Amino acid sequence: MANYGTCKYCGKEKELCKAHIVPKKFYLDYTTERYRSIDQDFNKEYAQSGIWDDTILCGDCDNKLNEYDKEGYKILLNALKTKEKTINDIPKAYLFKEGEDFDYINLRFFFISLLWRASISSKAMYNKVNLGKFEDIALSILKNEKTDDEKYFQTIVFREPEEAPYGKVHYCIKSKFDNVICYKIFFTKFIVCIIPNTKHCRASKGLEYLKLAFNKNEFVIIEDGNSFEDKRKFLNKVKKNWKQKDKICKQR
Ligand SMILES: [Zn+2]
Repeated sequence: MANYGTCKYCGKEKELCKAHIVPKKFYLDYTTERYRSIDQDFNKEYAQSGIWDDTILCGDCDNKLNEYDKEGYKILLNALKTKEKTINDIPKAYLFKEGEDFDYINLRFFFISLLWRASISSKAMYNKVNLGKFEDIALSILKNEKTDDEKYFQTIVFREPEEAPYGKVHYCIKSKFDNVICYKIFFTKFIVCIIPNTKHCRASKGLEYLKLAFNKNEFVIIEDGNSFEDKRKFLNKVKKNWKQKDKICKQR
């Protein structure tokens, strides 16, 4: 049954489509596999073709945002392997140059729309993403109504090593980057960290990392075995929580 409602991008009453939050192609075997997603309260949901929400976007607006997703596929999925580099003291990283390798606006809008879709979605998996006033700021940047400002939505991308397990577990957490809020979106071995507002970020370790943030000239993906630690801890907590829930069920 078609679902009618207000599209959160154009604001019109329309038939709403099945809009993916993390674009469909990042669920690598989406035609054959069932995916398990986990929300921050450890509830799980199975999804055949990734997590979508049919209460947020009309088809036209979803298609518009899908154009930016294409830049994400191009860089993260297709070009990655050919861009391996050693940068400063980072043993393994991937370096992309604006113009030659990526289009700044398209890639920037891909990251912003990823976080914006997570924020407007009511799916449990994204219930910790609440951008507050930055939701409207993200939307007006995406609609070109507001001049983009680099203090908003700074993005740093990590990748787990190829051999790291659990690459297909997708989830999203609210975290801290120094003293400011940061959202981490885990999908397909990537960890996309987006900081809604860096204005009050204190001058410390965080600023060093911000030098590696995606910018108008370069985009760096840092491969880091330690970045997997976050995921391991999260999944251990999930396991523990499920065991406890099982126990409670059995006791009843
Ligand atoms: Zn629309």
